[in-house]
Amino acid sequence: MIKHLIIGGGIGGVLTAMYLQKRAGVPSRSIRILDPHPTLLARWHANVEACGMRYLRSSSSHVLDTDFRSLRSFAARSPGFDKGDFTPPYRRPSVRLFRAHCEHIMQECGVPELHIKGTAQSLKRGRKGHLILETDKGALEAKNLILSLGAGTQPVRPDWAESAAEVQHIYDPGFRSSLASAGQVGQVGQVGHAASARSPTTKTAHVAIVGGGIGAAQHACMLVGRYHATVSIIARHEPTMSVFDFNPCYVGPSCLPGFLSSEDYRERRRVLEQERYPGTLPPDVYAELQALRESGSISWIRGEVSRIEPSHCGKSSSQVEKDTGQTTVFITPPYRDKKPQNEMRLVCDKLRLATGFTPGFNRNPLMRQISMEFNAPFEAGGAPIPGSTLEWLSRVFLVGRAAELEVGPPAGNIIGIHNAAKRLCSSVSV
Ligand SMILES: Cc1cc2nc3c(=O)[nH]c(=O)nc-3n(C[C@H](O)[C@H](O)[C@H](O)COP(=O)(O)OP(=O)(O)OC[C@H]3O[C@@H](n4cnc5c(N)ncnc54)[C@H](O)[C@@H]3O)c2cc1C
Repeated sequence: MIKHLIIGGGIGGVLTAMYLQKRAGVPSRSIRILDPHPTLLARWHANVEACGMRYLRSSSSHVLDTDFRSLRSFAARSPGFDKGDFTPPYRRPSVRLFRAHCEHIMQECGVPELHIKGTAQSLKRGRKGHLILETDKGALEAKNLILSLGAGTQPVRPDWAESAAEVQHIYDPGFRSSLASAGQVGQVGQVGHAASARSPTTKTAHVAIVGGGIGAAQHACMLVGRYHATVSIIARHEPTMSVFDFNPCYVGPSCLPGFLSSEDYRERRRVLEQERYPGTLPPDVYAELQALRESGSISWIRGEVSRIEPSHCGKSSSQVEKDTGQTTVFITPPYRDKKPQNEMRLVCDKLRLATGFTPGFNRNPLMRQISMEFNAPFEAGGAPIPGSTLEWLSRVFLVGRAAELEVGPPAGNIIGIHNAAKRLCSSVSV
């Protein structure tokens, strides 16, 4: 029997394991992390690689360790890192430094040895009150279960993209940012640097990205810098700048007690909606985007995609139309003025989605099964309702975005995971 079984080996699951060991004194033999990927943190690495992120949005204190100074002292004593690995404000670390620190600290804490590869499928309770978790690799018995499933459900796919397999979401498992198959592409350049002079004979790929947040903006800048692509971003709104993607006053005593003082989950949902800022860009990404808009490498189109069609060539009726391998995107304007004649057509070599994740856990198969089996509560917005110790049902705890009704707007971010793991340590037994 595993004493503390964590489901999900992302930042949430790994950080919780570290807190249990370092803060609650739980021996490593009592902890296991179930995750289907070959290595822990695989989804995190894939997501940051897919969007082309260079610096974290959060400060260098928000790290994969219980000690908030850990990454900075690691950088100071490790060769190969310098002040270029930090960027203002709050000395945000480079992705390369963050990754190296994660690998170092995980090795130091023996975290990779806690990994069991597999996917949790369903939960039931044994006769002695312990938990039995069915996985694709067989059953696991546990005393305490900690659910750290990340954003919960799938990357958002708009209706028009439902049956278009060629339209990939940048956070789809298996997504590759390479433009190798998008016709001829320019030479490979440096990520994040404006495209250098192109050969006049080189045809560059035209990529359209749907979505107006940090994923879309970073991915666009990366495609220009690395592949000399031209990019059109299709978004409902203008680019909006914000240092953080939530109101940081909810991290601590300034605002969190007010959030928790309301017993009405509709009110907590209202605050969550108001105090999280999806679709915004930190100042450095905003500045890079605007510079590339001015240079003409990126265009920002306000509107909504209504449908897509394969593009054809062949002008007269005697000619057979040929599929060009390109896609025609039909875009309606953002305002009331949605007359068909105002529909815009855009032809691109590749169309990609950067539309975030579907909100709500009530569509997650494991969460639904647990809720039905144990009659565990969800609020109307689709979030599970845990108690103040983050216990959703007896001995089943929540970490990460799933704990948002107790942890508040930062729940899905690294600092929110710290706050959840600290609460958990005060309620679980060694
Ligand atoms: C591109 C990007 C950049 C971000 N940058 C920042 C940042 O700079 N600062 C910040 O604070 N936050 C940032 N975030 C937000 C957040 O910190 C990350 O999303 C982080 O990865 C969340 O970690 P997690 O463990 O909750 O989720 P995930 O990384 O999604 O991990 C969840 C894991 O659970 C596994 N899992 C799910 N269901 C099951 C199951 N049934 N059985 C077994 N395993 C399962 C998944 O496979 C996955 O490996 C960023 C998010 C993204 C997408």
